[in-house]
Amino acid sequence: MGKPILEVNNLRVSFKMYAGEVQAVRGVSFTLDKGEVLAIVGESGCGKSVTAQTIMRLIPSPPSYIKEGSSILFDGKHEISKMSESQMQNIRGNEMGMIFQDPMTSLNPTMTVGAQISEGILKHQKKSKSEAMKRASELLTLVGMSNADERLHQYPHELSGGMRQRVMIALSLACNPKLLIADEPTTALDVTIQAQIIDLLRDIQEKTETSIILITHDLGVVAEMAHKVIVMYAGKVVERGTLEDIFYNPRHPYTWGLLRSVPRLDSDKNAELDSIPGTPPDLYAPPVGCAFAARCPYAMKVCKEIDPEHFHVNDGHSAACWLNHPEAPEVEMPVGIGRGAHG
Ligand code: SF4
Repeated sequence: MGKPILEVNNLRVSFKMYAGEVQAVRGVSFTLDKGEVLAIVGESGCGKSVTAQTIMRLIPSPPSYIKEGSSILFDGKHEISKMSESQMQNIRGNEMGMIFQDPMTSLNPTMTVGAQISEGILKHQKKSKSEAMKRASELLTLVGMSNADERLHQYPHELSGGMRQRVMIALSLACNPKLLIADEPTTALDVTIQAQIIDLLRDIQEKTETSIILITHDLGVVAEMAHKVIVMYAGKVVERGTLEDIFYNPRHPYTWGLLRSVPRLDSDKNAELDSIPGTPPDLYAPPVGCAFAARCPYAMKVCKEIDPEHFHVNDGHSAACWLNHPEAPEVEMPVGIGRGAHG
């Protein structure tokens, strides 16, 4: 761990739609250090993917726009929120790489694997075609593909889903990025392949010391590789901490709900996983108080009237929930989560 590679401060992103403004990201701040894996977790629509895609400036504007006062400082020198598209093209695929959920839609079906990987290398690095192909072959070997030289000549549709995701990872690593953003990298894959891809990402992260932002709704994936976690709900960070803080000492009822939906090795295989009842609020008109209040079994009067700030739990761990106020009534964490449950 070392200096921050990314400092996101008060990021607010909205979409201007016919029916009004959707406030998708509402004041997100976090820091990612070099060599660190930060997981951003939450249900779909919580703003995690919009946050990630805004860091790479992948969302067209309009309809999206980054609001005044937002800052995304990359590598201590690039203010991403103010960069032009041509400046971003130099950074994307070079200093930052992205792995998407579905490689079939993000790989080019008309180009061979080798041509796609070497294209990025040729664009950003001074290499000849044959050097770029050699590097592409090395990358395929790095991501665990056998017969890499033969694979270079295959098209994406000739590969399995897991292999395509490996190609996507090779592609994202082509220029040794300082930051890799993996947006639900395993969601489209079956369970055994998911585990292999997570192992691969963890291996690569350890070997290359790349900083990674992992976007997922799956806390099982988080447990496998994250150092730090931020939990998002309705466009805001509701809890932040180390992996241990979030798994063993979670302090927000929404995090409790997410943890209750993680399968455990010792649980009855036929038991239904708990999902959180209710739906997130409408971000055209976010509620005045805590956005989780309508779904929270612990909601108090204050929750519906005043949005809680983050309460400090310990160094680096905080939660935006009134239950952490020193005068709040004591409530017990639901059975089966917290210390002891995932050890
Ligand atoms: Fe529940 Fe209130 Fe905490 Fe929001 S602030 S999560 S409503 S207890």
